[in-house]
Amino acid sequence: MQKDTLVFSLLQKELERQRNGIELIASENFASLQVLQAMGTVPTNKYAEGYPSKRYYGGCEVIDELENLAIERLKKVFNCSWANVQPHSGASANAAVFLAVMKPGDKFLGLDLSMGGHLTHGSPANFSGKIYQAIHYGVTQDGIINYKELEEKAFTEKPKMIICGASAYSRDWDYKRIREIADAVGAIVLADIAHPAGLIAKGLLNDPFEYCHIVTSTTHKTLRGPRGGIIMLRHDFENKWGIKDPKGNIRTMSQLLDLAVFPGTQGGPLEHIIAAKAVAFGEILSDEFMLYAKQIVANAQAMARALTKRGYQIISGGTDNHLMLIDLRNKGLTGKKAQETLDKAGITVNRNAVPFDDKSPFITSGMRLGVPAVTTRGMREEDMETIAELIDTVINNIDNPQAVESVKTEVQNLMSRFPLYPELTYE
Ligand SMILES: *Cc1c(COP(=O)(O)O)cnc(C)c1O
Repeated sequence: MQKDTLVFSLLQKELERQRNGIELIASENFASLQVLQAMGTVPTNKYAEGYPSKRYYGGCEVIDELENLAIERLKKVFNCSWANVQPHSGASANAAVFLAVMKPGDKFLGLDLSMGGHLTHGSPANFSGKIYQAIHYGVTQDGIINYKELEEKAFTEKPKMIICGASAYSRDWDYKRIREIADAVGAIVLADIAHPAGLIAKGLLNDPFEYCHIVTSTTHKTLRGPRGGIIMLRHDFENKWGIKDPKGNIRTMSQLLDLAVFPGTQGGPLEHIIAAKAVAFGEILSDEFMLYAKQIVANAQAMARALTKRGYQIISGGTDNHLMLIDLRNKGLTGKKAQETLDKAGITVNRNAVPFDDKSPFITSGMRLGVPAVTTRGMREEDMETIAELIDTVINNIDNPQAVESVKTEVQNLMSRFPLYPELTYE
């Protein structure tokens, strides 16, 4: 077969876009070359429905070793007793948890999407908001989780599950308090750590496993692995919520979750991606990753300081993790305009609603910035100061295409000092 030059030239273009730009999307990162290599491998050819030693297809002996390796490494990463590495994405991991612990129409409590929550935490546009009854808590005027509201809603609504975790929240979580509330109303606590997982893995943030029954995550954000999802338990438990398997047997939570991933919500697992997850988990266990995680926190704080100094309003006043949410209203522009203009300068961010936003989710008053990707490229605190200055120049020249164009040149020069996959080419 001839080389598909059209597809590979587009891949080369995307590689160059990634090399030349400043990537500040908080949910993105650059997986290592070994993680990329593992993804493009032969298990993509293999059907392996089921779990290690319990497959519905022959020829799974090597696949079993790979999946077991991924599971064992992940258990070490989070000091947990059980893990499922098959979810295709963070959304699939959450879908499986819903299926395992709730019946259609059951109530659950999650952080409102407009306050930093995720689509799968009960957005009306998502399965979680369509099949189940979603109730939401928010943040206070200061931008901190409104635990009082969470408690009051838990007591009046008696949800079956309480979800903590967010996509645009820069502070740590009080898991202990949420568990106490959940225990008082008989709810299960799910911690969705899709964003800060890499920092939690290295003990730089509170440990959700101490208090939350179930923990889900993506593997491609701060964990810096392939695009995918995971589900974990530190303590397996007999299901005491009266949820039964299809034959009416009471199962342990790990059995229910396994069944909810396959056959509940997925078919064949992506074993080439699971191989790449195993590589990423091995990297996370290294001392190098500890340095990386600490640098993320140092960079986020340096970025927050540099922007605050330039008059930017950071929701909640700062950050404990890898990201920050900026209210642009005092700068007289919308999130949409900021995102589009920064894009022209080679600085990639995403517009984001701020709490109590008066603009539509399509326009928004804010932008979300995260540092995991630029930290992977080797940038440090002083580079955050440079980036803040470049952002500020664009924002102050929002209707001046020449000024924006010259920032783009500066961005390219800056990023050429932090090589990305120097050995890689697709052409
Ligand atoms: C990113 C994210 C997810 C979903 O991950 P996908 O892999 O995009 O499906 C779920 N929950 C939270 C809190 C997230 O930030």
